[in-house]
Amino acid sequence: MGERTSFTIQQAIEYGRSLCSTVSDSAKLDSQILLAFCLEKPTSYLFTWPDKTLATSQQLLFETLVARRANGEPIAYLTGEKEFWSLPLKVSPATLIPRPDTEVLVEQVLLNHKANNCRCLDLGTGTGAIALALATEKPNWQIEAVDFQLEAVELAKQNVARLGLQNVSVYQSDWFAHIDQATRFDIIVSNPPYIDKHDQHLLEGDVAFEPKSALVAENDGLSDIQKIVFDARSYLVSGGYLYIEHGCGQALEVQSIFSEFDYHHIQTVKDYNNNDRVTLACYNNK
Ligand code: GLN
Repeated sequence: MGERTSFTIQQAIEYGRSLCSTVSDSAKLDSQILLAFCLEKPTSYLFTWPDKTLATSQQLLFETLVARRANGEPIAYLTGEKEFWSLPLKVSPATLIPRPDTEVLVEQVLLNHKANNCRCLDLGTGTGAIALALATEKPNWQIEAVDFQLEAVELAKQNVARLGLQNVSVYQSDWFAHIDQATRFDIIVSNPPYIDKHDQHLLEGDVAFEPKSALVAENDGLSDIQKIVFDARSYLVSGGYLYIEHGCGQALEVQSIFSEFDYHHIQTVKDYNNNDRVTLACYNNK
């Protein structure tokens, strides 16, 4: 067996960049993130110590992760972490990778609800992203977060514990199935699956590695949204609000689902790419 040549940090970055460039538009950054992860250092370390040599174990791990990235696996699944609302969240292949666009939903909730004591429910919480962002901004709100997948529930619980939050409870529920029927929420939020099963987008990039159960819905991607809008009426206080993330081409359909079920103040908000992304509305109980 020949002696293994050790990479310097600079050489490792270039090695990773070149392998990742077949699948990624940000190959150099990917390489830097993976290397910093293997070294258990912030990326700034890489620029301070370009000539430092990698230990064998670090190099082996780096080569493995770069090979997986070059095979298309998302960076977030390789490092097990993704930032959302400036919170470091643990992620796993059991959940969607939180998207910056979903922060628009969080922003809208914070903009519209100034009360100190809201009760809020997050349906299909995944990593817990939306619930945790709201919980850190609003320590006095009581937040419940549910997911159908037990692995997601476990992960979201770990994220709650890691961030030391006291005002979020996470449990398993298939949409409203296990929500206490006597509870009424001021706010219900959800980023449900909304992609049509034939959408080509499902085969591309990071999305191809994410769980289909979190992405795909029947009826042109609208079936879960329809169910949530219908059922939420029984769990909202009178004048309570429902916020739903949806596909950029679904705003009109989602608005008409809301109006079909007698919601009012229906409003669609765009994401940072100027695409329709979140529709919200108010419901008054009779
Ligand atoms: N916005 C995600 C995407 O387009 C989908 C998220 C979802 O289905 N909830 O990949």
